[in-house]
Amino acid sequence: MKAYQTHRFSASKIVTKFFILICVFTANHVAAQTVIEKIVQEETKNSQLQKLAHELLDGIGPRLVGTPQMKKANDWAVDKYASWGISARNEQWGEWKGWERGITHIDMLSPRVKSLEGTQLSWSPSTKGKAVKAEIVIIPDLSDSLAFVNWLPTVKGKFVMISMNQPTGRPDDNWQQFATKESFDKLKKERTELTDAWRKRLSKTGHSSRMLPIILEKAGALGILTNNWSNGFGVDKIFNAYTTKIPTVDIALEDYGTLYRLVESGDNPIISIQTDSKDLGTVPNFNTIAEIKGTEKPDEYVMLSAHFDSWDAGQGATDNGTGTLTMMEAMRILKLVYPNPKRTILVGHWGSEEQGLNGSRAFVEDHPEVVSKLQALFNQDNGTGRIVNISGQGFKYAGEFISRWLAAVPSNMKDSIKTTFPGTPGGGGSDYASFVAVGAPGFSLGALNWSYFNYTWHTNRDTYDKIIFDDLKNNAMLTAILVYMACEDNATFPRDKVDLGNNKLTGQPILWPAQVKAMRKGPIAPTN
Ligand SMILES: [Zn+2]
Repeated sequence: MKAYQTHRFSASKIVTKFFILICVFTANHVAAQTVIEKIVQEETKNSQLQKLAHELLDGIGPRLVGTPQMKKANDWAVDKYASWGISARNEQWGEWKGWERGITHIDMLSPRVKSLEGTQLSWSPSTKGKAVKAEIVIIPDLSDSLAFVNWLPTVKGKFVMISMNQPTGRPDDNWQQFATKESFDKLKKERTELTDAWRKRLSKTGHSSRMLPIILEKAGALGILTNNWSNGFGVDKIFNAYTTKIPTVDIALEDYGTLYRLVESGDNPIISIQTDSKDLGTVPNFNTIAEIKGTEKPDEYVMLSAHFDSWDAGQGATDNGTGTLTMMEAMRILKLVYPNPKRTILVGHWGSEEQGLNGSRAFVEDHPEVVSKLQALFNQDNGTGRIVNISGQGFKYAGEFISRWLAAVPSNMKDSIKTTFPGTPGGGGSDYASFVAVGAPGFSLGALNWSYFNYTWHTNRDTYDKIIFDDLKNNAMLTAILVYMACEDNATFPRDKVDLGNNKLTGQPILWPAQVKAMRKGPIAPTN
């Protein structure tokens, strides 16, 4: 009887418990469904991405570290967040050479008149309000560094071309489509030989490619002409200058080739360059951080992450305007549909990623309280495409957690995502690596390529028109859902790492990537 009664009591208790469990599960499930449905609904019906893209990319423009545009973007983001009721701040992490791009004119005056397509390199000196006219010399193919020293005085009062002349301005896929196999093979062979010969020519000067412009500047050259073709129609990659007194300009392949051939044929072209950039001393650099405070576990964090800075020949649209906009839009939506998250939601819009993940590395150094309690960080930084790759970055339980979070994502967004678990830890490439290096769960949301590396990455064509807004909408929703799921997860992400095995060549154990210190002051001038 007693036993029976006990049994009956337990049975009813179990039934009750089971019922409660079902209710809780259903309630949670319904709550999750509702939040996810609301995320999708908000982005589908009320996307702000185009408006944000226009304000940031057309209005403010590119965001090179040290420029007033970078600071303007920092302030714009803080204001935007405030308008959505999200608290945001600019956190100083370092300082950089202050510089502002101005008007550039590059013109051929002889043997005929033509305005040339070119771009002053980032942080390049100006021509101090003057148009500088001069002849051009090409770095010659000399026997050794002694011959170079003897030749060097001839650069005085001239512009110097230091890049090779490309044998074609057509991208390979164009050759693939139209050329005979013989002529495409011939082109590739010729290009390999030319590239190899040019590398030897430069190395025989005895100087690195970074040091060479400085040596030419010291010898009295009036400016440096480069061409950094990006293997597509009309695209060049534009990085920083190394000269400190004379301008360095990239001339587009078509015009660079024309000048190069005219110099070689003895037609002695004369060009005029005026670059009106401004040096602005030393300026502070910031990360923009925004926050939606957690309710149950406010000292645990789920982070959205994307670098805010860019190179500055285009608008920094796909590197990394699109990652920036994805994270801002996801934050806007989360604040609307999930205003009281279980864990604190933070977004990091990092400065100076392009010069070595500097903003995010500084944040990792400055905020151990966040890094030690990080549940997950989602970074996006490889262009405008739909997110199709997620790796577990070598964390043992990443598969279990990320799969659970992804399970809540509607199938049209998740079906094309390839996951790799546990994966291997990324040592660089973008800001998630700053977190992975200290064993904190940073993940990269890898996007479809959309010809990123040739056409937009660090190029003069990285502009608004290259954005695929449908893909960006997808990414904003996906990020918001992953953040929501990571916030709600009852379990804390365990930091156990997988055994990375041994290097096949050396037999030595593969090590977890090491933490690298942020460069807090820049840029650093090359010394060799
Ligand atoms: Zn980037």
